[in-house]
Parts: sequence; structure tokens; C-alpha cells
Amino acid sequence: AFNTCRRTFDAVIETADKMAREKFATHNSAADKDEPKFVNGQVEMLPQVKEAFDAYAQAGFIAGRYDYELGGMQLPESVMAACNGFFTAANPGTAGYPFLTTAAANLIRVFGNEQQKTTFLPNMLSGRFSGTMALTEPHAGSSLADIRTSASPTDEGHYLIKGAKIYISGGEQSITDNIVHMVLAKIKGAPAGVKGISLFIVPKFLVDDEGNPTERNGVSLAGLIHKLGYRGTTSTALSFGDDAPCH
Ligand SMILES: Cc1cc2nc3c(=O)[nH]c(=O)nc-3n(C[C@H](O)[C@H](O)[C@H](O)COP(=O)(O)OP(=O)(O)OC[C@H]3O[C@@H](n4cnc5c(N)ncnc54)[C@H](O)[C@@H]3O)c2cc1C
Repeated sequence: AFNTCRRTFDAVIETADKMAREKFATHNSAADKDEPKFVNGQVEMLPQVKEAFDAYAQAGFIAGRYDYELGGMQLPESVMAACNGFFTAANPGTAGYPFLTTAAANLIRVFGNEQQKTTFLPNMLSGRFSGTMALTEPHAGSSLADIRTSASPTDEGHYLIKGAKIYISGGEQSITDNIVHMVLAKIKGAPAGVKGISLFIVPKFLVDDEGNPTERNGVSLAGLIHKLGYRGTTSTALSFGDDAPCH
């Protein structure tokens, strides 16, 4: 059993090394020089970023740690860390998109209800949808207790989100069919400070019961933030509930 595992782990690590060299390292410099552009409310970016993201997802790396039922390979954290080391070294900007997706999917896997898991997890673990973490606001970075983004309950059993976030990595891109934002917000009437913070799933496109994208949700790209390096990962300002209701 040890030898079989060893062979599997070696093969996975070799795949990561090869893919990092052939699909990620090849546009690392180009993605930094030719950073993503804000055009008519959309992001224009190098096509190689999507090719690399899709290759990573199709090889099963987003779901790599999880059970076979979730499309995973049951890889130990140490093996995933070794694999992701190659991608980070090859191209941290492009690697940011699958890494953020892995993290957001893991939040839903651990804390989501059955419906949230059914509609979002398979799409995120397969790389059809990406994920973000939307914590920071123009006036609140380290001091997340001070966030102002609000969540108001509706009669339909969900919340309406209103507010603004900045520095959201991967908050908009032209890679995936949908972007699933993990948004920190305060429910109206919640206690002050950290205790009043809740976490919401806010998809760019709303999804039906099977998880297929439907109508556009009211989260929009307010602007792209320019950085000195790590420019391949979009850094975005997002507005929630400004142009249309945000669910
Ligand atoms: C490349 C990049 C990617 C990012 N991606 C994301 C993302 O995907 N999602 C997201 O939500 N955010 C993201 N952020 C935002 C990031 O989380 C914030 O920048 C970070 O939380 C710090 O907040 P701030 O920039 O407002 O700095 P501030 O909180 O204003 O801090 C400024 C300085 O003051 C210091 N400081 C702050 N509070 C204290 C204190 N109480 N005592 C002593 N010193 C203090 C800090 O150490 C720092 O040196 C990203 C930022 C960068 C640069």
C-alpha cells in the first residue's frame, strides 16, 4: 500500500511540476507586463490565464484534497502543498484564481447547507465557477469589525446585500462561467463589532436548483486596482446592490 501511494503521489507531483512549467510559467512575465484591463465594466485579460486555470481544474487539483464523490483524489495536505508550490513559483498571479476558488469552495463544503453545497460545490471544484473572499472595505482592512456592508432579510428566505468592497482578488475576470463571492456583511440589527459579522454566498450570476447560472446578480465591478507586482490576479473594487438588487 505504501508503494502504491508513493507512486500515486510522485505521479501527481510530477504532473504539477510539468503543468506549472508548461501552462503557468510561460505567461508569468507577460501577465505582469500586460495587466488585466477594465473595458465596459468587464475585464480583458490574457487568454493563457484561462487555459492554465482550466488545465489545473481538469487535472483535479481544485478538488484534490477531497473524496472521490466530490471529484477529488484524497491527496494529503502535504502533497497538495508540494504541488501548489510549483504553481506559486511558476506564476503567482494566475495561481491566485484556482487557489481562491479552492478556499471559497472549502468554506461552502464545511459550513454550507445541503442546498448551497449541491448548487455551488460541484461547479467550483470542477473549475466551472471560481471563488473569492470579499472582506475588505474602503475604510476597513485590518479592522473588519468596522465593516458597513449590510444584509437585509427578505420574505423569500435570502438576504439583500448592500455595500462596497475593495482589493477583492479575482473579483472579476474572464475565466469562468460564474464567480462566487464569500462576502462579509452585517445583518441589520446585529451586535456591534466582530460578533455582528456574517458570511454570505453572493454569486455574480444567480443559479437555479441544478446550479446552472441564470440572471445577473447586483454585484458589479467598480474598478480595477493597479499593483506593483502580482498583477495577473485582478484586484477589484466591487459594489453590491448599487445597480440592481444583490442577493
Ligand atoms: C495584493 C492584495 C490582495 C488582497 N486581496 C484581498 C481579497 O481577496 N479579499 C479581501 O477582502 N481583501 C484583500 N486584500 C486586502 C487586505 O486584506 C488588506 O489590505 C489588509 O487587511 C490590511 O488592511 P488595510 O489595507 O486597510 O490596511 P490597514 O488596516 O489600514 O493597516 C495599515 C497599517 O496599519 C497597521 N495596523 C492596522 N491596525 C493596527 C492596530 N490595531 N495596531 C497596530 N497597527 C495596526 C497594519 O499592520 C498596517 O501596517 C488584499 C490586499 C492586497 C495588498
